[in-house]
Amino acid sequence: MSGIKIRDVRVILTAPEGINLIVVKVETTEPELYGLGCATFAYREKSVLSVVEDYLKPLLVGRDVADIEELWQLMHQNAYWRNDGISNNAISGVDIALWDIKGKMAGMPVYDLLGGKSRTGVAVYRHASGKGLDEILESIHRFMDKKVRHIRIQWGGYGGEAKSLNKPEGVLEGRYYCPDQYRHNALRMFDYVRSKIGFNIELLHDTHERLSGIDAVRLAKELEPYKLFFLEDVLSPEQGEWLKQLRSQTCTPIAIGELFNNPKEWDYLITNRLIDFIRVHISQIGGITPARKLAIFCEQFGVRTAWHGPGDVSPVGHSANIHLDMTARNFGIQEWSGISEVSEEVFPGVPELKNGYVYPNQKPGLGIDVNEELAKKYPVTTRITKWTQTRLPDGTLNTP
Ligand code: MG
Repeated sequence: MSGIKIRDVRVILTAPEGINLIVVKVETTEPELYGLGCATFAYREKSVLSVVEDYLKPLLVGRDVADIEELWQLMHQNAYWRNDGISNNAISGVDIALWDIKGKMAGMPVYDLLGGKSRTGVAVYRHASGKGLDEILESIHRFMDKKVRHIRIQWGGYGGEAKSLNKPEGVLEGRYYCPDQYRHNALRMFDYVRSKIGFNIELLHDTHERLSGIDAVRLAKELEPYKLFFLEDVLSPEQGEWLKQLRSQTCTPIAIGELFNNPKEWDYLITNRLIDFIRVHISQIGGITPARKLAIFCEQFGVRTAWHGPGDVSPVGHSANIHLDMTARNFGIQEWSGISEVSEEVFPGVPELKNGYVYPNQKPGLGIDVNEELAKKYPVTTRITKWTQTRLPDGTLNTP
C-alpha cells in the first residue's frame, strides 16, 4: 500500500497527425503526481472514451495506485465479458498510466521497474514504399543513409498497386486489389531490391492478411531466396491454423499478432513455435501488464517480440513499447513509423531515434508528457473508416 489514491481518470483525444489518438491521464491524491497511458483504438475513439470515463473511472477513484495487478484484474473482469478491443484499449490507458506513476514514485524509468535494461538502444524497422520499383529503392536509400538496418518494403499500399482489374458491373466502393497480382509484384520487388542493395540490410514485408491460406504458404516459400528478417501478418488471425502447413514447408520467419485481443489467439502459436515474432498492439491486449507477461511467456519458447508501432499508436504507446523493448531478454525488433515534429510538441519527451536505434529518455516513469492545451488544437474526427473496405476484383470484401 502506498496510501496514494486515484483521484481522477480522464481521456485526452487528439489527432496531431490526422489520426485519432486516445490517451488516458490518471491523476492521484498526491499533487503533481499523474500518469499517462495509451488507449488508442483510432477508429472507435468515442467508445473507448465512454468505457474509461463512464465505467472505469467510477470503479477506480479512491483505490491505491500501487496495486497495478489487482487493478488490472479488477478492470478486466468488471464487465463480465472480456478481451474485446474497446475494453482492452480502455484498460490499457489506465494500466500504462499506473506504470508511469509507479516509475515516478520510485524515481526510475519503467524499464528499470521491469527488471532493468537488456540493451542500451532499441533497433527499429522503418517503412519504405513507392508506386514503382525506383521509388521504393529511393525510399530504402533514404533510410540506409540514416544508418537504418531493418527496412520494411511495400509496393504501393497493403495488397499492392492494383492495375487494370476486370471487375463485374455494379461493384461497390472499396480498396480493390488482386491477390495474384500482389503476390507476383511482391516477388518482383524483392528480386529487384536485393539485386540493387545486396544482402547486407534486413528486409521485411507486410502481407496485411491479404492472402488465402495456400497463397500465404506459396508466398512464404517463394520469398525464401530473398532472406527476409520476417514476413508480417501473412494470414488473418482467423486462418492461423494454416501456419502448421506453412512451417512444414518454409523457413521464412513469420511475425503475427497486431490484431490479437485474447491470449487464446496466441498461446498455441507460441507453444507450437508456429511464429518467430509476436507483434501485438500492446494497448489492444490491455497494456504493459499483459504485454510483459506475454514477452516472458514467449521467451520460454524462443519467440521474439516485435510490438506493433504504426501511426495509430500514440507517442505514449510508442514510449511504452520502447520501455518493454529495453528490458525484454527476447526482444526482436521494434516497428517505428516515425513521430512528426508536431506530435513531439504535443507529447514532450518522446523516445529519440538515432542511427537506426531508439532511446528512451532517463526520466522516471515513461518519461513522456502531454501538452493538453496544444492537444486541443488537433481535434479528433469521427468518420466512417474507408481503408478497411478492402475488396477482391469481383467485389467480395476481404480482411483489410
Ligand atoms: Mg502490420
